[in-house]
Amino acid sequence: MSFNEVIGQALPVKLLKNMLSQQQINHAYLFAGPAGVGKEFVAKQFIKALNCTENELDACEKCISCRKFASNNHPDVIEITPEGKQIKIDQIREIQQNISYKPYESDWKVYLFKEAEKMNLQAANSLLRILEEPPAYAIIILLTLKEELLLPTITSRCQIIRFRPLKTKEIKNELINRWGLSSVQAERRALLAGGSLGRAVSFTEDDSVLTVREEVLAAVKKILDFDIVEIFEFAQQLLTYKENLNYVFEILITFYRDLLIYKQIKSLELVINFNNEQELLELSSKYRFGELEKIIKLITETAEIVKKTNVNLQLALEVMLLKIKGRGEIKVGRDNCSRNNL
Ligand SMILES: [Zn+2]
Repeated sequence: MSFNEVIGQALPVKLLKNMLSQQQINHAYLFAGPAGVGKEFVAKQFIKALNCTENELDACEKCISCRKFASNNHPDVIEITPEGKQIKIDQIREIQQNISYKPYESDWKVYLFKEAEKMNLQAANSLLRILEEPPAYAIIILLTLKEELLLPTITSRCQIIRFRPLKTKEIKNELINRWGLSSVQAERRALLAGGSLGRAVSFTEDDSVLTVREEVLAAVKKILDFDIVEIFEFAQQLLTYKENLNYVFEILITFYRDLLIYKQIKSLELVINFNNEQELLELSSKYRFGELEKIIKLITETAEIVKKTNVNLQLALEVMLLKIKGRGEIKVGRDNCSRNNL
C-alpha cells in the first residue's frame, strides 16, 4: 500500500505529504467527504507513514511499525467505531484514560474515529475536552461524511481535509485495473456508483442492484405510454425493490436529471444513465423544462415521505408515478397523458 495507490484525491494526499515532509503535524484532523472515496485508506496511509521507521513520506510496509499496523496490532493506534448506532461517552472516557499514557513504541499516539458523525452529544462534548488540551504526542483523526454533521466547536479545532466524489472514469479504470472487470462491466457499475468507489465495488459482489437499475430504467422510459393498469403494475414492481428503494429513487432522479441536462447542453458528457444519444434526444423532447423540474422535485419529496414509518408506501408510489405520467401532476380525464399540451 502506498499514497500512490490513492485515486482521485491528489489534493488531500499532497497536503498530508507536505505535513509529513515539514514535520508539521496537527493534533486533530477532520477528513470529510462521501462514503467510499478513500478517506479511511488515506488516513491509514498517513498514520503508517507517521510511524514508519524507514521512510518519511510514505509507509515502507516492511518495518516493524508498518507490519504491526497492517495486522491491526500497533499499540499506539486506536480505532474508534460506533457501538451499535452511536459512538458513546464510555468509548470517549476510555480514550481520556488511555491518552494520558505515552506511546509505547512510536512518537505518536493516534486515535482514528470512523463515522465520527455518529458520536452522540455527550460523547462529542467529552471529546471536545480532549481536543482542548491534547498531549503533545496525541493525534486525533475524525472521518465523517460531512463536516456539518459535527459540532462546530469540534470542527473548529480540527484541520479539515476535504475529499471529493470520484469521477466515473476514475472508478471505471480502477474496476478494470484492480478488480479485473471488463470495460463494459466496469462502465455499468461506475455509472451507478455516484462517485463512490466503495459502492461500485459492492456492486461487483452483489449484481442484483444493477438488475434493479436496468429494470427501473426500462420501465420509466415508457411511462408516458402506460395506461393506468400499467402504472399500478409499475408501482407494484417498485415495491418488490423495497430494500433498495433509496437506489430506486436515486435512479429515477438521475434519469430525469439526465433529460434536463441534455435539454440544456445537448451533450452526453454529464449524463449518467444513457449512452445512446438518439434515445436521449427523443425522450427529453417529450418533456418541457418546467415539467422535468417538477418531476425531480416530486420524486425527491416522495423519497423523503416514504422514510416515515406511517406512510402507505404503495399509495405514495402510485401517486408519484401517476404524477410523473402527468408530467408533474395528476391529470384527470380520458387521456391523462395527452400530447396536445406539448
Ligand atoms: Zn515502515
